Amino acid sequence: TMSKPYWLEVPLIEGSKDKVKDGEILIVGSGLAGVSTAYWLQQKGFTDLTLVDHQASEAASFRNCGHILYGTVESMLAMVALHGQDVAKDLWQLSIDICHEVRDTVKRENLSVDYKQDGYLVIAVEESENQEILRSIELLNRYGFQSDYVEKKELEKKGFREVFGGRFEAGSAQAHPTKFRNDLLKICLDRGLKYFSKVKVLAMDENNSKVEIRIDGQATVRYEAAVIAANAYSPLLSDFFAKHRLVEPFRGQIICSKPLKKKLPVAYPHSFDHGYEYAIGTEDNRLMLGGWRNNTPGGETGTYDITPNPMVEKGLAEFAAKHYAIDEEIIWEYSWSGIMAASKTGFPFIGPIDSQRIFTVSGFTGHGFSWAHGSAKYLAKIMAGEPIPELVARQFNPRLVR
Ligand SMILES: Cc1cc2nc3c(=O)[nH]c(=O)nc-3n(C[C@H](O)[C@H](O)[C@H](O)COP(=O)(O)OP(=O)(O)OC[C@H]3O[C@@H](n4cnc5c(N)ncnc54)[C@H](O)[C@@H]3O)c2cc1C
Repeated sequence: TMSKPYWLEVPLIEGSKDKVKDGEILIVGSGLAGVSTAYWLQQKGFTDLTLVDHQASEAASFRNCGHILYGTVESMLAMVALHGQDVAKDLWQLSIDICHEVRDTVKRENLSVDYKQDGYLVIAVEESENQEILRSIELLNRYGFQSDYVEKKELEKKGFREVFGGRFEAGSAQAHPTKFRNDLLKICLDRGLKYFSKVKVLAMDENNSKVEIRIDGQATVRYEAAVIAANAYSPLLSDFFAKHRLVEPFRGQIICSKPLKKKLPVAYPHSFDHGYEYAIGTEDNRLMLGGWRNNTPGGETGTYDITPNPMVEKGLAEFAAKHYAIDEEIIWEYSWSGIMAASKTGFPFIGPIDSQRIFTVSGFTGHGFSWAHGSAKYLAKIMAGEPIPELVARQFNPRLVR
């Protein structure tokens, strides 16, 4: 199997290899968060923007499962237990609005990125999980959110086996992450964004009313402001991230089959076992299945190594054999890993950090496709001096995390 992600069969747009010069706003990271930040800052009228990236092909953004999901890393049940009913309800609504930002951008800019709002199926692989799903549906429905129970029999008709029940959410979506990022980046470049590849930022500090950015092998550059959109990698260039342990890196892994002869009955996003395994059917009818890290010693945390773990690869293939009623041979063609950021709070961090000139938009755990794009819009508002919802200011403020 190849360790190249399926999504990177679409080549990433690369930046200039020239030296970075001084400017107004510098954004570090050209994954979904960094490119979205450039996009929203341009929407707010900022024109002198520079985007830099060290190794975009390793970004989590092109190594995920393409899910654009309502909710956060926690179930509604867990969110109510953690934050109380009112905050949980508001957070869920915010997550919906954030998913719709992706949809609205696709429409506004007329992007051809395989965007489909065809729902999300959460599947229980144990009876206790089935009971949790039932309670989550009850809560979601009580707060006015759509979520429908799917009987075991119904799931079996949809091609799953050894499952106990599920819940279907119609509003979640999927898209091709590389196409989305590339198309958005192309728009930003047309509107004057400067983009540099192979630029490794070592550190940044405010000095004499400027942000001084130290770059590996290049002269230090000076900017009015800087944005850290490096997600799991942020602690490597920011003492603030490291000191407050805002994010912990962890490795996620995915396998993807050769195109199957028989059409997958469920090609829209779905997950099993509390989201620990997640899957999709690709445009060309491949089964893409990720997760399984909860079955490994250490849970794949604390690493920046993107070499796929053979144990996880095997576990995922066995998981597919157990839970999908696919009667042809499945040939796994791709296997890859990526590094996600487990957020200390379970939510992204949006706003200034240790200086009024140094901002971040990071910490997306397993929901970065929607949250990166939507969070970047809030960051652009903050940087433009516009008001943001109180919920965002309170829950996602990196300075309030202790
Ligand atoms: C296996 C897997 C499955 C996932 N599935 C889903 C899913 O289905 N749905 C979903 O919503 N989310 C999913 N995620 C999470 C999602 O992919 C991430 O949350 C999201 O892509 C984060 O985007 P980002 O732009 O913040 O970070 P990244 O995409 O990681 O980009 C960070 C960029 O910063 C650059 N960088 C880092 N340090 C430096 C530096 N010092 N100097 C210069 N550049 C630097 C890196 O090179 C990189 O390009 C998954 C992740 C993985 C790994």
